[in-house]
Amino acid sequence: MSDGDQVPLFDLGETPPPVRRFGGQDVVVREVRCKSLLNRCRIDDYSFNCYVGCGHGCKYCYARFMQRFHPHAEEWGKFVDVKINAVEVLARQLRRLKPGQVFTCSACDGWQPVEQHYRLTRECCRLLLNAGFRLSILTKSRLVLRDLDIFGGHNVRLGVTITTPDESWARIWEPSASSVSDRVDVLRQAKKAGLETAIMFGPLLPKISDTDEALAELFALAADTDVGQVWTDMLNPRPRVWPSVQQVLQHHRPDLYEHYRRLMFDSAHRRAYQRQLDGRVRRAAKNAGLANRLT
Ligand code: SF4
Repeated sequence: MSDGDQVPLFDLGETPPPVRRFGGQDVVVREVRCKSLLNRCRIDDYSFNCYVGCGHGCKYCYARFMQRFHPHAEEWGKFVDVKINAVEVLARQLRRLKPGQVFTCSACDGWQPVEQHYRLTRECCRLLLNAGFRLSILTKSRLVLRDLDIFGGHNVRLGVTITTPDESWARIWEPSASSVSDRVDVLRQAKKAGLETAIMFGPLLPKISDTDEALAELFALAADTDVGQVWTDMLNPRPRVWPSVQQVLQHHRPDLYEHYRRLMFDSAHRRAYQRQLDGRVRRAAKNAGLANRLT
């Protein structure tokens, strides 16, 4: 995945970047400039990211791989690079791109806490919608509700990600994201505003949120909010994910450590698990009357 070239404004070697408090958390914020913002994407036609890094700091986050291209001294969740010229770069790109569907966003949460201050995702969404692009949003933040005013009357599907129905587990795995109940409220309000809605259940956490009981609870949420589409995802061994997953397990559920290690690193075992999980997910969807909305 390409995230566009960036030219840092700060000399990272010499100038100490500012530590700022967003959403109750200290993050190191660097303002950078990008050369392009909207990129071709495998999920939809395009995607964009106004930020490198994500203050939500989810322990299983696959976007950690971005650190390969943009190395940072800080751990994932503790830094955000802000593409301060995102709006002008996008405006320039839009003059020559054909409208299509835009996955919002692919390597960060567009409505993470810094967005409250910078409002870059909002302005980019406004430009894209006015230029006839469609948005497929996936977020864990209640802040997205701020932007319902610009989504109305446009082709927008607003989706939220929910990994577990259990608020205390969500706080552990997704320390700075909105609560599960706030994410559910996002779906209700989006629906009320006339938008198409969706839920991503994932990654489903083995023996925490992939149990039949947890799946029943998750699909009950989807049925209750009447979402148009449901996706699921399992925990995958993406680069850099295991060290932080391992830390959570060692601290909170050491009994599950070996189970997770096998699922992450034994591919035959993982394939068997995936087949079994797919079956249980389909059953839970059917029991909730949502079989036809499972994608
Ligand atoms: S919200 Fe998404 S991008 Fe942000 S840390 Fe969590 S999983 Fe990663």
